[in-house]
Amino acid sequence: MNHRVITCILCPNGCELEVGWDGEPTTQSVEVLGNLCAKGISYALDELTHPERTLTTSIRVRGGVQRLASVKTVSPIPREAVVAARELLQPMVLNAPVAIGQVVVEDVARTGVQVIVTRAVASQSDPEQS
Ligand code: SF4
Repeated sequence: MNHRVITCILCPNGCELEVGWDGEPTTQSVEVLGNLCAKGISYALDELTHPERTLTTSIRVRGGVQRLASVKTVSPIPREAVVAARELLQPMVLNAPVAIGQVVVEDVARTGVQVIVTRAVASQSDPEQS
């Protein structure tokens, strides 16, 4: 039997899941111990079959009262796309003002997921506007 320990990150409990399975991991073959609720079972199965992460990072801002604006994907993206998404965002520079919810990338790393601003940055020339 295959075995893995996975920490569920769906809530602050952070249950440590003991996951065992034979052959391909499926709802029938996966056994999960240590979960305080049923979400832990689907989380463990997702981690084994198609793990996803929400990417959060910062992008430089030109002419803003702060040098960086925080951004995130609007939904989780496949874990294997995170590096490509980060590499795409790293050299980007936004022009101030930057508003919360502003779309930075429409389809990051071909995932179909938008990247949006989560922290507004006002312009140096108009610090009241953001
Ligand atoms: S298994 Fe349930 S209770 Fe435990 S961390 Fe995951 S969501 Fe929270």
